[in-house]
Amino acid sequence: MNKKNLKTSFSFSENNTFTGEISGYTHQGLGVTRYQNKVVFVPYALKGEIIEILPIAEKKNIVYGQIAKICKQSPHRTTPACDLTKTCGGCALQHADYTEQLNIKTEIIQNALERLGKQKNIQDKIKPIISMTEPYHYRNKGVFRSTLKNGKLSLGFLEENTHKVVDHRCTLLFPAEINNLLNNLEKLINQQFISLQKCLSGVVIRTSFYEKKSSLILLINNPKSKTKKLAVKTENAIKEFYKSLQTTTNSLKIFGYSIDNGEVNPLYTNLKILSREQVLTEQLGNIKYEISPESFFQVNPIQTEKMLNYIKSLLPENKILRIIDAYSGIGTIGLALAEKAKTVDFIEIIPKAVKNTEKNCQINQIKNANCYCGKAENLFKTVSNNHAQTDHQVVIIDPPRKGCQPQLLQSILDFSPEQIIYVSCNPATLARDLAYLTPNYYLESVQPLDMFPQSYHVENIVSMSKK
Ligand code: SAH
Repeated sequence: MNKKNLKTSFSFSENNTFTGEISGYTHQGLGVTRYQNKVVFVPYALKGEIIEILPIAEKKNIVYGQIAKICKQSPHRTTPACDLTKTCGGCALQHADYTEQLNIKTEIIQNALERLGKQKNIQDKIKPIISMTEPYHYRNKGVFRSTLKNGKLSLGFLEENTHKVVDHRCTLLFPAEINNLLNNLEKLINQQFISLQKCLSGVVIRTSFYEKKSSLILLINNPKSKTKKLAVKTENAIKEFYKSLQTTTNSLKIFGYSIDNGEVNPLYTNLKILSREQVLTEQLGNIKYEISPESFFQVNPIQTEKMLNYIKSLLPENKILRIIDAYSGIGTIGLALAEKAKTVDFIEIIPKAVKNTEKNCQINQIKNANCYCGKAENLFKTVSNNHAQTDHQVVIIDPPRKGCQPQLLQSILDFSPEQIIYVSCNPATLARDLAYLTPNYYLESVQPLDMFPQSYHVENIVSMSKK
């Protein structure tokens, strides 16, 4: 928050600090205290700490402050393992030890469900969070942006709230395959492919923990040509680069490029794969998953496997189960449940991900599945119409951060399945959608899971049964 922009409403004199005790956390893990009827948000402050706070901005009744001095320190305060923590913003909780990170996440989900979702007695329904034994090097995918400094290209994250690239790179969250590939790539471009320095706006790397192989997609600056085709010279340079990179990086399995569409998460409208291989294979439990670069896949395979086991445990035994997996991606959840069900129907919007799901059914010999490509809110009625009312119907929803369309939630209520399992990476939209469903559904349990250690993000699995 910028002090200048808010100066008119700023009611503190310059450099005047005040003291407050941190009593809880915001939805982004900032410390919260109160001062003269105002709520104060303090980044990197921990519950129980007494802090001398320098106010830097003010909006309505909220003051944004910085730590000027820690007068009483929390026993959970720890030195961040990475020096970039305050600039890159990806790891907002590194000042807290892992126990406190888990407490913060539990508080975030509880607050969201109580305050936004108006759920009563929610504390009793929230289970202890599923943690990671080794909460580093878990991310299988990263988008890295490029910057040129003194004639050298480097790849890193964007600084929080800006478009500046942090020119050191975070290595703590990624496995060695990704860190090595990034190093080799930078070296090669800076030594032998100078022409690519200017046209490369970033790279997307994903790695399979099972195969120990990676996919690399170069993001190329929007070319001047309106046809969105690359100049022949640039394309040839990219092909030569690929050949050279293969000689230093034998973990490279998929290689391609895409015209940068300016999105934080590139959408690959113009993806061109140059490698013979087109998919990575991951294995979770006894299921193999083929994944195209365009398809969504959970970023933390270790925790995803735990999530799948947990979802399995939510299903009743000795019932004829019919499962609809909406927002199904490459089929991650439904494929893991197929052996327990009579049928599984997948609904997913990205055609490549639906193709992956069909292939994944084949390679795992799953014959009781149907795949539908399109918007869940449009297709749900038709898909659920095929279901015999006598069977035990389970609907799984795992939407993107923005949550579900009301049209889908209404169609689910009309269909009235026995059980709804809502998997969410955003407590705020989860709370909103649960408020829509819970007049007709009993909220059985909330299982938080730490899919994104060191960040304030938290995954939750909510199970509901028909009232
Ligand atoms: N359940 C999967 C994917 C979850 S991510 C897994 O665990 O891996 C959410 C998925 O929803 C993405 O694959 C995205 O492409 C898809 N999606 C986004 N909007 C959608 C919509 N309106 N209808 C159906 N799928 C959608």
